[in-house]
Amino acid sequence: MRLVLLGPPGAGKGTQAALLTERYRIAHLSTGDMLRAARAAKTPVGLRAAEIMDRGDLVPDAVMIEIISDRINEPDCANGFILDGFPRTIPQAEALEQLLADREIALDAVVRIVVDEAILLDRIVMRAESGEGRADDKAETLKNRLEVYRTQTAPLIDFYKSHGTLREVDGMQSIEDVAASMDEALRVEAT
Ligand code: AMP
Repeated sequence: MRLVLLGPPGAGKGTQAALLTERYRIAHLSTGDMLRAARAAKTPVGLRAAEIMDRGDLVPDAVMIEIISDRINEPDCANGFILDGFPRTIPQAEALEQLLADREIALDAVVRIVVDEAILLDRIVMRAESGEGRADDKAETLKNRLEVYRTQTAPLIDFYKSHGTLREVDGMQSIEDVAASMDEALRVEAT
């Protein structure tokens, strides 16, 4: 199974991806995690990405496409994978289509986790003010991340709607209920 999880920062993509990985025994490809690892290892890409991530902006498409192109060739992706945080722009989505077509594979589904962005903003500001979480969890950065999502990533909703692969689940439920809705959405996809 090959999936894309779509949704704004704080929607629970990472949490749901981790659950799906266990259930379907497929690789969890989080581009955010990959960039944080590159940054910790002080690789050239990691060092260049650091400032961009701290601002909440997007790392250039070409960089991200190369990272994903290499990653899906790894043996653990042979069974399938969940893309968490990629694609984030229309050019990334188009490049993904091409990458998959070149390998004669396709996405089974794109699942959008639908959340109320106003409530999300309150939640992420609270999380930032509590001082917990990641370096890019500052309130200003998170607001920018949400804005970047609206302008650059949200157009993917229509992109995947017109490709017929989009499923939607209500992300304002408990983690367990979102997971159950996710299962339901994927069952529909499988039939
Ligand atoms: P995430 O953990 O998915 O929220 O990603 C954290 C940060 O990494 C984002 O705010 C971006 O700066 C960067 N990033 C992750 N994935 C991508 C992507 N597909 N395209 C561009 N930047 C990305």
